[in-house]
Amino acid sequence: MTASVRGLRIGVSELRRHPGERMRVDRAIDLDGIEVSTAAVPAGASGHLDVVLESLSDGITVTGTLRVPWTGPCRRCLEETTGIAEVRLREVYADRPTDDDLLPLDGDSVDLGPLVHDTAVLALPLAPLCTEDCVGPAPDTFPVRTAEDVQERTDPRWAALDALRFDQGSDDRLE
Ligand SMILES: [Zn+2]
Repeated sequence: MTASVRGLRIGVSELRRHPGERMRVDRAIDLDGIEVSTAAVPAGASGHLDVVLESLSDGITVTGTLRVPWTGPCRRCLEETTGIAEVRLREVYADRPTDDDLLPLDGDSVDLGPLVHDTAVLALPLAPLCTEDCVGPAPDTFPVRTAEDVQERTDPRWAALDALRFDQGSDDRLE
């Protein structure tokens, strides 16, 4: 079953009774609609969250990975390309958050939704690349001038000059 980002509130009352204990959350997540200007989660594709919640005396740590499928135009050849970004998660939810790095614990549950949403947005590539060695646009799309093209445009009179220069060169070598 695929959970939505809004359905990621996890009950932790049992976990919190035993500091040091762990609970794994491993599930497919519907990330539909998450996008940035350069890439987006493909419609209908789901991400995957695999984290371990560990109970502390005054909070819960969440550690693991989020896999985010994406699609977007390659920054070099502009072809539509796809990939899967995998990002590490490490967050602390605390009863009384003391600084901006800590997220609040909400009674006996923790809502992983906002964390997963924000992490997915940051995981999308800002400069997608179809392959590491992509050389850019296909020649049919943007014609590249070859050496032959340039030759054809050379004025025949210059060709005669080239021949003269060659002769001179031969003379020089003879001296
Ligand atoms: Zn490319």
